[in-house]
Amino acid sequence: MKFSTLLKFTYFGITTVLFKRRKPILGSIILTDKCNLACRHCAVSNLTSAVYPYKQIKTEMQKLYAEGIRILLFYGGEPFLWGDNGVTLRDLVKEAKQLGFAIVNVVTNGTFTLDLPEADLILVSLDGEKEKHNEIRGDTYDLILANINKATSANICLYMAINQINKNDIEEVCETAMQTKNVRAVSFNFHTPYPGTEYLKLTREQKQICCDRIAELSGRGYPVLNLQSAFPYIVNNTFKTPCYQCVIMENEKQWICGRCLDIKGLCQECGFFFAAEYSLVFSGNLKVIFEMFKTYLKYI
Ligand code: SF4
Ligand code: SF4
Repeated sequence: MKFSTLLKFTYFGITTVLFKRRKPILGSIILTDKCNLACRHCAVSNLTSAVYPYKQIKTEMQKLYAEGIRILLFYGGEPFLWGDNGVTLRDLVKEAKQLGFAIVNVVTNGTFTLDLPEADLILVSLDGEKEKHNEIRGDTYDLILANINKATSANICLYMAINQINKNDIEEVCETAMQTKNVRAVSFNFHTPYPGTEYLKLTREQKQICCDRIAELSGRGYPVLNLQSAFPYIVNNTFKTPCYQCVIMENEKQWICGRCLDIKGLCQECGFFFAAEYSLVFSGNLKVIFEMFKTYLKYI
């Protein structure tokens, strides 16, 4: 991340904390809920299989930019399945950059060619070493690793959702992040227990063990993008929800924080580390603010 961008974010952060503002800075756009996989923990794919038109996505980008959002993420389903009359995901990333978004990230399952050099980060889901990953995401591990190795730029961040199946694979994923070409870092989340997937959630004690493990691995030099100072709040779910600085749009509808906001009681079990980190930063938690500076300057 450029230092000038960081200064702008700092100004935003200070004024947000001082004036207790609820203005958002991070926005996500769902391009489609279509997906080529059927992961065990997923509650969002192929509900409608709609691929939203380019014109609509462009309007959503413009709306989010006008609201002051400067960090944009494209999500699916699988965002590489999005396209409209020759306009591709890569075109959307370029257009978002031209519009003025400072950071543009894409979250993908990694089963398509990773040719997005204009993206700041491509978050590629990897849910463990080969056996556990394939148990959760189907037989995709080798394909994903091959795609990462062939990617056209070194802007990849592995993205692991820790659950009851893969909770012992944290070190393996850190090792993969360290050893694999084009991978810059690894980012963890805990499974958020959407209805029907509750059996995958971790207990508080298990979350604590995982966070201790991540902190230890980070201390040993593995490239972890998460903020350790937020771990106690994540383990105990004591961060303020929803996070007003994050918004998400799908099919012209906008939510604060996540679409999961509509699911009763889910925020009290939220496993999204970013929701905790942003909530803590904009509540003025100095330790988390300082660590975010250091970590984002290093990896984004
Ligand atoms: S790749 Fe993502 S959207 Fe697709 S099924 Fe898996 S978790 Fe769901
Ligand atoms: S579960 Fe709640 S706090 Fe977590 S991302 Fe969804 S809306 Fe935000």
